[in-house]
Formats: sequence, C-alpha cells, structure tokens
Amino acid sequence: MNINYSGFTLWLTGLSGAGKTTISQGVELQLKTRGFPVEILDGDVVRTHLCQRLGFSKEDRDINIRRIGFVASLLSRHQVIVIVSAISPYKETREEVRQMTENFVEVYVKASLNICEKRDVKGLYAKARSGEIKQFTGIDDPYEEPVNPEITCNTEQETVDESIAKVICKLEKMGYLPIL
Ligand code: ADP
Repeated sequence: MNINYSGFTLWLTGLSGAGKTTISQGVELQLKTRGFPVEILDGDVVRTHLCQRLGFSKEDRDINIRRIGFVASLLSRHQVIVIVSAISPYKETREEVRQMTENFVEVYVKASLNICEKRDVKGLYAKARSGEIKQFTGIDDPYEEPVNPEITCNTEQETVDESIAKVICKLEKMGYLPIL
C-alpha cells in the first residue's frame, strides 16, 4: 500500500468521445471538494498554448504528449494532483511518460469506435469520415490500447457516475487518497 498524499498523475487515454473530459471533470470536482489541489491538463487545450503549431503526425503527437508529461511530473512533484485528458494514442510514448513521472496512474477510458462515432460529441468523426480532417485517431490514424492500465472505465457499460466512482475508489485502494 502506497500511502502518500504528495501528488500523482492520473492519465486518461482513449478515443475521442470515449469520456476522458467527462470523467476528468467529475474526478476533479470530487477531489477539489475534498480540498486537494488539482490541475487538469487537457490535450486539446495544451495544443493551443504549450504546443502551438504541432500537427497530428506521430512525431508531433509524441512531442505533445512528452510536454504534457513533463509538466505533469513537475506539478505532481509539488503536491498537485494532475489529471491528464489526452487521446495519447501510442503505447510506447505513454510508457515513456510513465517512466519519467512519479506516481503515474493510467486510466483506459474505453469505448468502441462505433460508439464514439455515434456520440460524435464534437462533430469531428463526421468531418474525419468526409475527409475534411485528416489523421483522425480511430479513422485514419492508430490508437494503441493500454495493455495493463491501473484502471479501465468501460464507458459503454458504466454510467458517468459509476466511472467517476470507480476511479476515486481505485485511488483510495492504491493509497493515493484517504478512504472516507
Ligand atoms: P473525450 O473527452 O474522451 O473526447 P467526452 O468526455 O467529451 O469524451 O465525451 C464523452 C461522452 O460520452 C459524453 O457525452 C458523456 O456524457 C458520454 N458518456 C456516457 N457514459 C459515460 C461514462 N461512463 N463516462 C464518461 N462519459 C460517458
């Protein structure tokens, strides 16, 4: 049991529309309510600040993820709970970030391409299918599933509240949060 309240990185990976933002925000709210300092690093938001001008080639995606990982490792070292919400499609790059980040908890936010496409929260799948946007993960760019994530939220079967509760419960079990 790893009892420490010294910050950790909760890394949510999954297809667009799988539920990363929704779960991140729900977990953030619960943690803030408990008085913890929390910072969300959202892949899309980071792209408009830290990672302007990066595209969606493997190389650019990897740079984006490494920069997020770097910031997450700095913040979590200073008692901040960092929640990363980023497709982060490449297994090897996620593993690289895991190695450079203390207290790394990977969450696979799992939903099939079919369901994500039906949800099409931001209308991006339709644009990817019509060819308006290229290199869209799941359509014409790869997504490599996590092999051994600490947590899997199957958002096709769980409600939003169930997924959030699952994450909090596992963090308590791992000793990252005190059990209420
Ligand atoms: P992402 O950030 O991965 O692109 P979003 O969180 O923006 O995905 O969208 C996920 C959609 O799926 C939302 O409309 C959300 O309400 C829905 N959803 C259904 N079940 C779940 C669940 N268990 N967890 C998270 N989202 C869910």
